[in-house]
Amino acid sequence: MNTQIIDGKSIASEIKEELRTRVENLKSQGITPGLAVILVGENPASKVYVSNKKKACEYIGMKSFSYELPAETSEKEVLDLVETLNEDTHVHGILVQLPLPKHMDEQKVILKIAPNKDVDGFHPQNVGALSIGLNGLVSCTPAGVIELLKRSNIEMQGKHCVVVGRSNIVGKPVSLLLLREHATVTICHSRTRDLESVLKQADIVVAAVGIPKFVKGSMLKSNVVVIDVGINRDENGKLCGDVDFESCTNIASHITPVPGGVGPMTIAMLMNNCVLAAATQGGTSN
Ligand code: NAD
Repeated sequence: MNTQIIDGKSIASEIKEELRTRVENLKSQGITPGLAVILVGENPASKVYVSNKKKACEYIGMKSFSYELPAETSEKEVLDLVETLNEDTHVHGILVQLPLPKHMDEQKVILKIAPNKDVDGFHPQNVGALSIGLNGLVSCTPAGVIELLKRSNIEMQGKHCVVVGRSNIVGKPVSLLLLREHATVTICHSRTRDLESVLKQADIVVAAVGIPKFVKGSMLKSNVVVIDVGINRDENGKLCGDVDFESCTNIASHITPVPGGVGPMTIAMLMNNCVLAAATQGGTSN
């Protein structure tokens, strides 16, 4: 079989181009979408993520407001800053880069973000909206998975989708989104018995396990669509996913590579959420 590789990088670029046009339209209506990013401490990976988010804002014509605070900043200072940003009409999206230093309660900080500015989609109001099918901001990586499937013309309706992983940031929300697309969804996790027999039934597999090359081709039926959310390092320090890419080619009809699959979609969907938040707050449907 000729496995088709889903090019997340090019789909993400396509989305960013569309967003540039939407931002121009919003600007012509007097709304410049703005994203505030709060980074506490010196985590090197977080610094890279934040810098990439700022670059993406610049690229699509949005404003970004950056708050890089020392690790010893108190929880109250962060909560006060979020409150100020909630009130700031130039700021349409607020992102607190996680993880926060240990002396802070992440949930408390997330709860403080106004739900209509919660562009990470982590606020319980947005999670609740997703679970009962109301409009809200959807977390970026799961939204990216659905967008990759849609833009690759992969039908979800009626398909058996097996999600491996049940985390709040990937596994659970992606399962709810697949359900919203009328798929039949099975969620597997570390205590699932006989994972392989469940995987063998899948038409679409979404792997969000956090274990390098965990899903092997031998566990899958032919023609399956494989979406790999994982970002890991293999034994040689090389970036790899939660799926063993080599053994899945020639079995899967479609597969996402790592890097270049789901990864680039996360930032694209973050920008999408910012534009959506700005349009909603500005009272326009753009
Ligand atoms: P997590 O550690 O919070 O959750 C992992 C899930 O896998 C858990 O629900 C656990 O039950 C399940 N699991 C663990 N061992 C298992 C086993 N043996 N069999 C079946 N299930 C098992 O991880 P996460 O935050 O959901 O992230 C998952 C992966 O996705 C990681 O590699 C992470 O780096 C990556 N990730 C990528 C992006 C992106 O932008 N592409 C964003 C978030 C996370």
